[in-house]
Amino acid sequence: MRRWNGWGLDSIDVQPRPATEDFLRQAIGASERPRDATLAEAASAIGASRLPAHPLVEVDPRVRLLHARGQSFPDWIDLRSGRVPTTPDGVAFPTQRAQVAELLSYAAEAGARVIPYGGGTSVVGHINPLAGDPPVLTIALGHLASLDALDEESHLATFGAGVSGPALEAQLRAHGYTLGHFPQSFEHSTLGGWIATRSSGQQSIRYGRIEDLFVGGHLETPSGALDLPCFPASAAGPDLREFVLGSEGRLGIITDAVVRVSQLPEEERFRAFFLPSWEVGSRLVRELAQARLGLSMVRLSNPIETRTQLQLAGHPTLAKVLGGVLRLRGLDDRRCMLVVGITGSKRHVHQVERALRWEVLAAGGVAAPKAIAAAWRRGRFRNAYLRNALWERGYGIDTVETALPWARVTSAMNHIEDAAKSALEAEGERSLVFTHLSHVYPVGSSVYTTMVFRLASDPDATRERWSRLKEAVSQAIVLAGGTISHQHGVGADHRPYLLTEKGKLGIAAIEGVLSALDPEGRMNPGKLC
Ligand SMILES: Cc1cc2nc3c(=O)[nH]c(=O)nc-3n(C[C@H](O)[C@H](O)[C@H](O)COP(=O)(O)OP(=O)(O)OC[C@H]3O[C@@H](n4cnc5c(N)ncnc54)[C@H](O)[C@@H]3O)c2cc1C
Repeated sequence: MRRWNGWGLDSIDVQPRPATEDFLRQAIGASERPRDATLAEAASAIGASRLPAHPLVEVDPRVRLLHARGQSFPDWIDLRSGRVPTTPDGVAFPTQRAQVAELLSYAAEAGARVIPYGGGTSVVGHINPLAGDPPVLTIALGHLASLDALDEESHLATFGAGVSGPALEAQLRAHGYTLGHFPQSFEHSTLGGWIATRSSGQQSIRYGRIEDLFVGGHLETPSGALDLPCFPASAAGPDLREFVLGSEGRLGIITDAVVRVSQLPEEERFRAFFLPSWEVGSRLVRELAQARLGLSMVRLSNPIETRTQLQLAGHPTLAKVLGGVLRLRGLDDRRCMLVVGITGSKRHVHQVERALRWEVLAAGGVAAPKAIAAAWRRGRFRNAYLRNALWERGYGIDTVETALPWARVTSAMNHIEDAAKSALEAEGERSLVFTHLSHVYPVGSSVYTTMVFRLASDPDATRERWSRLKEAVSQAIVLAGGTISHQHGVGADHRPYLLTEKGKLGIAAIEGVLSALDPEGRMNPGKLC
């Protein structure tokens, strides 16, 4: 079963080592676990549904509660405290495309708003009903999950859009293919959600972001059905797929998606290295991206993230010994850890690894023990579970991400980190802040910053603390000229910052497209713009 008020399956429990708590105590102070409400307590506060009865619509308070929030920090506060002021009035689980169209007609007749729901892993408030909304119908797509067609000649696969990451990969693997889209939320997020939020997977350098993989499909909208035919390329005016990518449930419901798939790679290796400093490390990853060396993944941690990662990995002795060895080889506390993935034919993997080692050595770096890259690989989806364990020790974690041209990457990182560190100073609180670059492009990079801070005993005080942090870092991103989101989308939380990025005319153009397909503003209003 999925945790109702945290991340992942409740059968998976990832606990930090004792040294982690000491580390956090020293960095930001001791903390205590706030009281969590039970599911029964939270469900008992939910009012009666305002929707008329329909055989496909469930109105049980628990079902409504389980579809009321995603995974953003304020979502966690609501769920953990049991104070969930807005829930959908009903949740439908269509099993066929025709039922989606039927549910949209039912919602129109009932004057209801509609929220499409994939895996509910949004971290920016995408799927939350808003205060003051008329009745809300959430349409959960999880039963539209089959591989409906595989064109092996063209490498195209057609899926029901509610398919989750593992189910999608398992169906493709059976035929020797992969989509290669692995966001950290892979276990629970869905193909439709990836498309609707412009998601990016960990190995996007090899396979591409979801916009490179989404080739066509079918949408049910309040104005009717929209088909997106598949072409290898087209010069026939603006590409309608671009309207659907990042549409955040506001245009309609993606029922089927055709995606570009790849044959399973012969080999996949992950390797870790240490570079002498951020300046050296960021220059190296830029040069690797610009030379298109053929890596599938790159993650360069700054010095604080490098230290924190080794501590959180729970190897204090290993960290100490490793620190000593690295110092002997001339790498002091400014060192940065680089983890890379190399994927492809055996020959490609061998050649790229050899070339990479040479580049790292030339930059004054050293290869890390293989156990470090192996630990990253093991934890690539599991580390998200640490959020549960740290919350239960009184610590909150949130992340922000942006992307900018290379010339501005380091200064933006410094501004974002400074904003996060100083945001809580007025109330005498500290935050632990660290950053990595994880999706690198020839022209720039994403910048991904993590913030750890203490929870207050009162949920409202925790919410205020988070709001101060979130506003400070979002302003810093906007001032640095970065996009408000490289991969998580806009939702409700980033909406105030979109105008700066798109401009008035840009927002008007987006609104024009939305109102063409959804003239009454029924689909997930209050999100995106
Ligand atoms: C621990 C964790 C790690 C994460 N790591 C990453 C990462 O590495 N990369 C990344 O890109 N994101 C990441 N995310 C964010 C999140 O997983 C993505 O935004 C994901 O794409 C959301 O997919 P979902 O199926 O859960 O969508 P949901 O959260 O259910 O919905 C998100 C939005 O998409 C809309 N939507 C969903 N399905 C459809 C559909 N079929 N038709 C129309 N609209 C639809 C919803 O209305 C909503 O607006 C992470 C989140 C968590 C909690």
